[in-house]
Amino acid sequence: MAQLGNPTNTIEILNKYKFVFQKKFGQNFLIDSHVLDKIISAAEITKDDFVLEIGPGIGTLTQYLCENAREVVAVEIDKMLIPILEDTLSAYDNVTVINSDVLKLDLNALVQERNNGQPIKVVANLPYYITTPIIMDLFERHLPLKNITVMVQKEVADRMQTGPGSKDYGALSLAVQYYAKPNIAANVPPNCFMPRPNVGSAVINLTLHVESPFEVHDEKLLFRLIRASFNQRRKTLTNGLNNSSELSFTKEEIAGALSALGISENIRGEALTLEQFIALSNQLRSIHK
Ligand code: SAM
Repeated sequence: MAQLGNPTNTIEILNKYKFVFQKKFGQNFLIDSHVLDKIISAAEITKDDFVLEIGPGIGTLTQYLCENAREVVAVEIDKMLIPILEDTLSAYDNVTVINSDVLKLDLNALVQERNNGQPIKVVANLPYYITTPIIMDLFERHLPLKNITVMVQKEVADRMQTGPGSKDYGALSLAVQYYAKPNIAANVPPNCFMPRPNVGSAVINLTLHVESPFEVHDEKLLFRLIRASFNQRRKTLTNGLNNSSELSFTKEEIAGALSALGISENIRGEALTLEQFIALSNQLRSIHK
């Protein structure tokens, strides 16, 4: 089977199977071999790696993964793509395609069964309509992961990488940076996809912390604080936290915790670093055990 990472071979396969793009599944297939090479090198794929690919489409990136990795499991929601993948991946014996919504699959069991619970890499040109839920799901399941290398909307990549003082800073930045070190590996224009998306894209690599550099006494509380702060971005942190239905601290308790950390009680949540959110959650935790 010919390599797919170009317009001619992609159109040939789409015509052969009379494939109709499903907008609801965020289908924008890669047609540029340079971008595919960049994804493989950003993920540092070697023959030691077990790779989970989310949304293989017609198998373009999957072919590159099969060439470079030890084993690949590709999870695709659209059943119309399954016969196509059987065809485009027929030359490889190190790939398994699963027809499922990745959010509904027991990924921990999969890693346990297929890779003895050892850390895996995740690589994907993600469907843009569910980028954040997929990334958060991978982190929150505490899957054994080495890194995640994904194509996302450029704006989302910027949100993952930024810190306080930028309009892009928010709950996603903090969650990503809590679990991993983000690095934008490439910016990718719309003409590298078929059909063309109407936004710019970027490849971002998230390298998981081997050991967390943070000491957090209560992770749930930390993420409640972060959510509450950015749900009410315009309010001061004290008011935002006090108004949250997920939290039960009085204004005095919040002000006291901020003052113990040397932070002004008039600060807005968007000005706090991840380290400050962590210090605040540890401080508040010591009030309500
Ligand atoms: N990897 C291919 C490529 O780069 O050409 C296709 C990428 S396309 C942006 C996203 C793919 O994810 C589509 O094939 C789509 O059907 C699939 N997809 C969408 N939602 C999914 C989900 N919840 N679980 C698994 N796959 C999904």
